[in-house]
Amino acid sequence: MSGLLICGGAGYIGSHMAQWLSEHGHNVTVLDNLSTGHRDAVRWGEFVEADLLNPASLDKAFQGRCFDAVMHFCARSLVGESVSHPNAYYTNNVTGTLNLLDAMRRHDVDRIVFSSTAAVFGNPINERIDEDHPKNPINPYGASKLMAERILADAATAYGLRSVALRYFNAAGALPDHGIGEAHACETHLIPNVLRAALGNGPALKVFGDDYSTADGTCVRDYVHVQDLAQAHSLALAYMDNNEGAHAFNLGNGRGFSVREVIDCARVISGHAIPYEVASRREGDPATLVASSQKAREQLGWQPRWTELAPIVESAWRWHRDPPSWFPRHA
Ligand code: UDP
Repeated sequence: MSGLLICGGAGYIGSHMAQWLSEHGHNVTVLDNLSTGHRDAVRWGEFVEADLLNPASLDKAFQGRCFDAVMHFCARSLVGESVSHPNAYYTNNVTGTLNLLDAMRRHDVDRIVFSSTAAVFGNPINERIDEDHPKNPINPYGASKLMAERILADAATAYGLRSVALRYFNAAGALPDHGIGEAHACETHLIPNVLRAALGNGPALKVFGDDYSTADGTCVRDYVHVQDLAQAHSLALAYMDNNEGAHAFNLGNGRGFSVREVIDCARVISGHAIPYEVASRREGDPATLVASSQKAREQLGWQPRWTELAPIVESAWRWHRDPPSWFPRHA
């Protein structure tokens, strides 16, 4: 049993991480500033309210507790918002990470699993993006995460920090039976917005661009279930037992689905029409992002269980159809 600090554990992916770790017998502490996370999503482990931009609050979180490793999910993560508010992204995602690493050093914790993103790659030059693909982010979100990866590499050399950066492609799905799922106050992600349209909540879905160089003109993404992401984090912890240094792995299913294919899938699963209109492209969106996760499969032993789009969308549909009382009203 390990003692683990989950920074950002009140958020979408972090809450699924806490569930996974608790189910697998670990001792979990969740740290969150509740800026976008939900207190009610912290259902496993102790909760500590603290902010990565407030080092004193971080010290309080570490004091009197014993952690074998940290998992770092705290971040701003919206591509479009990062283009219009880059400073907020660099402050949260870079300065916040530096503050966390400093706190870890002060409290002798030398292992971290870091939430990174496919956005570090920018526009793909191969059909499937592996870890050697050039890293040329085209938005501040991706740039901020790439900077944090570089910081982890330098910390490995200078301080002996062990780290694994996991580059998620499109996190999706929910665990409705455990009462957790995606619940953003201002929802920008495709699957929740499609399901909201199916439920007739809010304005019609906007499809951001149908003139991309893809089969149907809409953007193609690789959707990976949050529970499979949690599994990969858990494997990354074990990986650090035997591997020094800073490592990075891409996490996706290796199959791309267009925005139109996601809409079609959601229509079948929900049994509802999905009204949508085509809008202009969203700034910072590459046409296609599909992962090669061979390295994660081979070196971490990662075996995603949610390999088809339909069950991923179905899990999200069950969550959105019957949301908990704390679900943001206009999410
Ligand atoms: N998208 C869309 N309408 C929406 C939300 C997203 O057309 O309401 C598109 C978006 O332009 C992108 C894809 O769906 O091509 C996935 O976007 P999302 O925000 O879910 O994830 P991202 O790929 O930006 O991490």
